[in-house]
Amino acid sequence: MSHSKVAIIGSGPAGYTAAIYAARALLEPVLFQGIQPGGQLTITTEVENYPGFADVIQGPWLMEQMQAQAAHVGAKIVNDHIVEVGLEGRPFTIKGDSGDRYTADAVIIATGAQARWLGLESEEKFKGFGVSACATCDGFFYRDKPVLVIGGGNTAVEEALFLTRFASKVTVVHRRDALRSEKILQKRLFANPKIEMVWDTVLDEIVGTENPSGVTGARLRNVKTGEVTEVAVDGVFIAIGHAPATELFKKTLDMTKSGYIRTAPDSTHTSVPGVFAAGDVTDEVFRQAVTAAGMGCMAALEAEKFLDLEEADLLVAE
Ligand code: FAD
Ligand code: NAP
Repeated sequence: MSHSKVAIIGSGPAGYTAAIYAARALLEPVLFQGIQPGGQLTITTEVENYPGFADVIQGPWLMEQMQAQAAHVGAKIVNDHIVEVGLEGRPFTIKGDSGDRYTADAVIIATGAQARWLGLESEEKFKGFGVSACATCDGFFYRDKPVLVIGGGNTAVEEALFLTRFASKVTVVHRRDALRSEKILQKRLFANPKIEMVWDTVLDEIVGTENPSGVTGARLRNVKTGEVTEVAVDGVFIAIGHAPATELFKKTLDMTKSGYIRTAPDSTHTSVPGVFAAGDVTDEVFRQAVTAAGMGCMAALEAEKFLDLEEADLLVAE
């Protein structure tokens, strides 16, 4: 059992920024990386909107830099995935997948978000065999093959553009008649001759073979006319957003209706004193690397203040 003043759960921009600030406040933080060290930006390629870089940088590189900076200023980085947290009493308790147990005076939750799925039986059946939620990871397997991308946000557009490097044709299927993504990305999408847009349409079923397991097509339904069509594709990329990773905290922390950790206005304080939340796990509006990093900074400063006040109270009591 090892104890720290501040434990940070998650290694995305929010977690690493919290670690940098907490370490520089001499709080000797411990950061747990989880199963995706570096977070969501490690599954993308170019990052063009993180300030400070005139040249386009790569997501995985940016996260390596954040990790190196956190370690350099003294944060302890632990490669463990947290499977249990006890936030009812003090000190807070944390158990890792490794079986190791930890305690902490303050906890910063920066567990981010995970890809959302449509929930189709055929989607589950072909996951890893033609169905993916990560073009950067799996795009390479679709050289000269037609693929589908489902969704209309920034992720869907970026995934579609990335897939044009490999695929013979990329069809983007969106349930409405307008994209949600940034205008600059839309402009690139519409200008790309390899991409076809299918509007007002949903994916009803993914079609494929059993032995060997693989996707051969998809059944699409126009939501306005009801017309069903089948398209021949070898891959289906689901890009319909991300859900916050809050399962561990549902019993102890207040959540919003959509399942994000609720924090006090203009603050990272959760419903339990001494527990703070930062980044995509609490942010249903912006969900950007820079806003996650900003919230990580806020959480570390608020944790520092919380621990200082608690220490001052203890001194007065003595
Ligand atoms: P995340 O990056 O989601 O990291 C969460 C961390 O928590 C991970 O390290 C994970 O391992 C860890 N974790 C989860 N559960 C546990 C657990 N139980 N125990 C321990 N650790 C745990 N934003 C931009 O600003 N610019 C972009 O160009 C951009 N491109 C994107 C491209 C894609 C494909 C995607 C999916 C997102 C993109 N975003 C972009 C959004 C951006 O990645 C997120 O807003 C940002 O990463 C959120 O940071 P975070 O620290 O809150 O969480
Ligand atoms: P998002 O913005 O929530 O978009 C999800 C898309 O999927 C929407 O177009 C939505 O349709 C559609 N959708 C949701 N559920 C669906 C369903 N059941 N069936 C069919 N379609 C469905 O998610 P995201 O694109 O993953 O982006 C998440 C966050 O990360 C955003 O804040 C985004 O800005 C950020 N991000 C930023 C960048 C960048 O800055 N370059 C890149 C990637 C992601 P509707 O439009 O009809 O709701």
